[in-house]
Amino acid sequence: MTDEITTKRRALLRSVFDGLHELGTIAKEEKDTTSLTAIKGSINTILITYSDRDIVGTCEECGIVLFRDDLGHICADGEPIFCAKHAYTWAEIKAQWDEDETDGNSDKRSEFMASYEEHISDGGSPDDKVLHTL
Ligand SMILES: [Zn+2]
Repeated sequence: MTDEITTKRRALLRSVFDGLHELGTIAKEEKDTTSLTAIKGSINTILITYSDRDIVGTCEECGIVLFRDDLGHICADGEPIFCAKHAYTWAEIKAQWDEDETDGNSDKRSEFMASYEEHISDGGSPDDKVLHTL
């Protein structure tokens, strides 16, 4: 549930993050380590400040900020987190479970395999992304 102020705050946070991300890219190109340090510090401060109400984290792959209620993927252990674009597919996660059959997480494994079978029998593809509301 997001009210008007929350929606506005998240849109502004998204703009700030996009701006800082772009600034960081430029600072990297210019090898401007002082600016890069300041930008990373600002990003971390904002992440920590808003983590209790808005921000879930950043995508492990591209660094985009992810808000509560966004679609994305959180791994079984709670991290890493991925945006919808970089989320694992059903086939990729199945391969991870198949590789590690000795893992102590046999309940989570059976749970995933049941969801996988259900996804496929419902007409889904192994190449679909596994997405949930963050
Ligand atoms: Zn991403």
